[in-house]
Amino acid sequence: MDHSTFRDFSKAMADYIAEYLENIRDRRVLPSVQPGYLRPLIPNAAPETAEQWTDVMKDIERVIMPGVTHWHSPRFHAYYPTANSYPAIVADMLSDAIACIGFTWIASPACTELEDVMLDWLGKLLGLPKEFLACSGGKGGGVIQGSASEATLVALLGAKSKIMTEEKEKRSYADDYEIVKKLVAYTSGELALTILMEGYSLSNKPILPFNGPDFWGGVQFRMVPVDDKHRMQGAALKAAIKKDREAGLIPFYVVATLGTTSSCAFDNLAEIGPVCQEEKVWLHVDAAYAGSAFICPEYRYLMEGVEYADSFNFNPHKWLLVTFDCSAMWLKDPSWIVNAFNVDPLYLKHDLQGSVPDYRHWQIPLGRRFRSLKIWFVLRLYGAENLRAHIRKHISLAHEFEQMVLADSRFELAADVIMALVCFRLKGSNEDNELLLKMINGNGRIHLVPSKIGTTYFLRMAVCSRYTESQDIQESWKEVQAMADRLQAEKAKGN
Ligand SMILES: *Cc1c(COP(=O)(O)O)cnc(C)c1O
Repeated sequence: MDHSTFRDFSKAMADYIAEYLENIRDRRVLPSVQPGYLRPLIPNAAPETAEQWTDVMKDIERVIMPGVTHWHSPRFHAYYPTANSYPAIVADMLSDAIACIGFTWIASPACTELEDVMLDWLGKLLGLPKEFLACSGGKGGGVIQGSASEATLVALLGAKSKIMTEEKEKRSYADDYEIVKKLVAYTSGELALTILMEGYSLSNKPILPFNGPDFWGGVQFRMVPVDDKHRMQGAALKAAIKKDREAGLIPFYVVATLGTTSSCAFDNLAEIGPVCQEEKVWLHVDAAYAGSAFICPEYRYLMEGVEYADSFNFNPHKWLLVTFDCSAMWLKDPSWIVNAFNVDPLYLKHDLQGSVPDYRHWQIPLGRRFRSLKIWFVLRLYGAENLRAHIRKHISLAHEFEQMVLADSRFELAADVIMALVCFRLKGSNEDNELLLKMINGNGRIHLVPSKIGTTYFLRMAVCSRYTESQDIQESWKEVQAMADRLQAEKAKGN
């Protein structure tokens, strides 16, 4: 493709994208295709000779769109939001054009340096303690990871390298494995649920149980019992650690979740933090979804105790309008991660090592994209005040939905509404709720997913799209009510 064709093609694509997003409200949220729908629509081998870009454009509506779940439809309410914004889309075009692999500073200085500064910008917007920020002149700093799951694993590996060093200084061990098999990490049952909902685990086991120990990242994970609002409290963590120490085990890592995937519950960080400090265990905070809300000062009470954390992570790619993938992670002392990951073959060494981060030591892969460009574009082209308005609007829409749920005596809430997620259910059996959800998604006008805490099955309504307005929320609720009417009518007929 020559330069002039690229100009025509990309301009046509920009028009198509604007058209798609402007009119996304008119599309059915969930596709009605059956598995295997796509293969018969395209040839069974790659073309031998080049085609025209116009032919490719024509096939988007024919081949792709019938099988797209429209995540940015104002009536998409499943999972959690994933970001979408014009500044981020354009920044990714530029990143794709530069197409550098920024593993060391010299591999593309702007790629490393903009990331370093953008993580300071973001950290300041959230009100993170200065110990996390590179601009404070201490050891701390931030990095972009691909996902929150990766950040949790990276922090675990840092914590592991720290505890191994400390234990070896304290007493002699036959080998490293003797230490590793005694290590214990802690989380609320909700981390397990996150991994389960996403259908994968970093250990070989596909599913973790909600109680008892299991393995993740090569160490034992203990599920700390939660309170009636699904939150981990300090006393329960303290008791679990004490029991393990008495059994001769080595507690070393705690993951506190601010805004769990299942019901958006907040672990009690203000209590967990001091416990971790007393017990000298690494505290990692997973605020993947809810972290974006901390740009609004009125929600920072939910991260009280963050000053005790060793690492903190949230996903701008969820709720802060920076497209996937962009998971922001801060470390107070990155040297533990750097030591754990440091591999320095000759061809990756350069003369200026040490003065700025070589991000390859801060992450699992070697390669990395120029992702800070999209943070820069989004922060500049929205401005903090519009990002705050975006968060506040979503939360207020969730409360609007909550009020409608409460006004219909057939329904009840399954969790407190704190962020832009409403967990609700029909009063009555899990089976009725399962049927209701099946009808809602079968109709395809709105899209919800369920979750389960303990034995209670419920539906989750997340405000996801930046196009969602009050009118959409009202229509979504009417759709839920209509399906509940239909369910009740069918049950009446069946009886
Ligand atoms: C969404 C979510 C995750 C997973 O995020 P990825 O970036 O997809 O790994 C982890 N933890 C919480 C609390 C989440 O909400």
